[in-house]
Amino acid sequence: MTETLHHFIDGKAVPGVSGNFQDVLNPATGEAHARVPLANAAEVKAAIKAARAAFPAWVAEAPAKRARVMYKFRELLYAHIDELAELVSREHGKTLDDAKGEISRGIEVVEFACGIPQALKGDFSDSVATNIDTHSFRQPLGVVAGITPFNFPTMVPMWMFPIAIACGNTFVLKPSERDPSPGLRLVELLHQAGLPHGVMNLVNGGKEAVDELLINPDVKAVSFVGSTQVGEYIYTQGCTHGKRVQALCGAKNHMVVLPDADMDKTVDALMGAAYGSAGERCMAISVAVAVGDATADELVAKLAPKIQGLKVAPYTDPDAEMGPVVTQAAKERIEAYIQSGVDQGAKLVVDGRGLSLQGYENGFFLGGTLFDHVTTDMAIYKDEIFGPVLAVVRAENYETALQMVNDHEYGNGVAIFTRDGDAARDFTVRVQAGMVGVNVPIPVPVAYHSFGGWKRSLFGDHDIHGMEGVRFYTKLKAVTSRWPSGIKDGALFHFKAGADH
Ligand code: NAD
Repeated sequence: MTETLHHFIDGKAVPGVSGNFQDVLNPATGEAHARVPLANAAEVKAAIKAARAAFPAWVAEAPAKRARVMYKFRELLYAHIDELAELVSREHGKTLDDAKGEISRGIEVVEFACGIPQALKGDFSDSVATNIDTHSFRQPLGVVAGITPFNFPTMVPMWMFPIAIACGNTFVLKPSERDPSPGLRLVELLHQAGLPHGVMNLVNGGKEAVDELLINPDVKAVSFVGSTQVGEYIYTQGCTHGKRVQALCGAKNHMVVLPDADMDKTVDALMGAAYGSAGERCMAISVAVAVGDATADELVAKLAPKIQGLKVAPYTDPDAEMGPVVTQAAKERIEAYIQSGVDQGAKLVVDGRGLSLQGYENGFFLGGTLFDHVTTDMAIYKDEIFGPVLAVVRAENYETALQMVNDHEYGNGVAIFTRDGDAARDFTVRVQAGMVGVNVPIPVPVAYHSFGGWKRSLFGDHDIHGMEGVRFYTKLKAVTSRWPSGIKDGALFHFKAGADH
C-alpha cells in the first residue's frame, strides 16, 4: 500500500488539498511506495502566512536561545541518522554510506548555526566624532524560502534552514518532489527539538508551488539549488519581484591531471568523484583533462578495469558501491548522451548501458561509463550529464588544460592533481571556478567556509552556508548615536542638585 505524504505547516502535518499527486519511487525497484501532494498557490500561501505570523516572536528571541534549538536538533539528527539514511537511499537510490555522508555534512552546518550569537556579533566604533558612536549589526529578513534538488535531500536543505532560522528568520521549504520524505522527517525532528510552530514550514510540490514563493510579497529571500535552466528562471523571477535570490546551479567539474601526478591516487580519487552517488552530485568530476598522451593512456588503462569492477547494486546490498540513477527518464537521458558521444566520435572505453540486475530488472541502473578522446565541441563535454559518465580529454600542455577549464560555461568545482607546487599555485590563482581542489577531487568547503560556483553555476551574489549564509539571510543596519556628555563640573547635568526626581 502506498503512503500519502503531506505538507508541514504551522507545526503540524497538513494533507494536500489540490488533488494533484506524484508517485514517489524507489529507484532500485522502479516501484512507488508513496505519493506526494503537489501544493497549489493557496496551500503555499497558507505556509507563508504561518511563517509570517511566527516571525515577530521568533525574531524577539535571543540568538543564544535560538541556537539552543539547533543544539538539540543536532543531537536528534545523530540519534536518527540510520533512519534518515534509509529514507534518503530508498527515494534517491544512493548507498547508505553516501546517505550518511550527506547527513553528516548537513549536521556540520547545524553545528555552525549553534554558534550564531558569535556570527551575529556586530561592530562598534567609539567616538567617530565628538560624543558620537557608530554600531552596526545584522537583522533577519523575515520569511525566507528554500527550493531544493533531489540529489541531496537532507544536506542541501540543511545548507539553508539552520542558518536562516538561527539568524531569526522563518522558513518555507519546498523540497524535491522526487524524494520528499527525508525533508519531512527533518522538519519533524526540528519541532521535536523545540522549534516554535510556524518558524519552519514545508510544502511539497512543483512549479506551481515554486511560482507562489517567487511572487508572494511576504517572501523576502529565496535560496535555490538545482539545474541551471530552472535556477536562471528562479533568479530572474525572484529578483523581478524584489527578492534577494541565490541560485546554485549546474556544473561540469574538471580534474586536470599533470604528468607528475601520483597516478594510483588520482585514479582512486576519480573513481569516487566520478561514480560516487552515480555521478548525481553537483561536485562530481565529469571531465578528466589529462596533460600529455602518456598521462591519458595510463589514466584510461588504470580506470577501465576499476569501472568494470564497480559493484552496482541497490542500497539494501551492503556491498553496493553505486546505486541506480533517480528516474527512468534520467536513465534514458544519460543513455542518449552516451550514444551522442559515440556518434560524435569519442572512444567509448567502458559502456554502462544495458545493465540488468537480477530481481531489480525495473530499477534505473546504469554501469559506470568511460569515454576517451573527447573533444570540447562534443555534447558529452559541454553539457552536464548528471550520471556515471566520465569524459577524458587530452590536452597538449598545462596552459591548454587551464584554458579549457576557463572557457567552459560552468565554474562550480575543479581539481588539479600534481606533485608540482608551482603549477598547483598558479592553477589556484588563475582558474575560473568557485571551489578548487589541489589533490582533492571534490573540494566541498567545510560548513564554516562557504559553498558556491562561478559563471553559470551560480546566480546571485552570495555563496551558501558559513558567513556568506549569515550575510544572505540578514541585512546590515548601522546606527550612529550622539549622547551629549552629561558630565559637567563633575555632576550629571540632568541630576541638578536639589532637583526633584
Ligand atoms: P531541478 O532544477 O530539476 O529541480 C530543483 C528544484 O526546482 C526542485 O525543487 C523542483 O521541484 C524545482 N523545479 C523544477 N522545475 C521547475 C520549474 N520549471 N519551475 C520552478 N521550479 C522547478 O534539479 P534536480 O534535477 O532536482 O537536481 C539536479 C541539478 O541540481 C543538477 O543540475 C545539479 O548540478 C544541481 N545541483 C547544484 C548544486 C550546487 O550547489 N551548485 C547542488 C546540488 C545540485
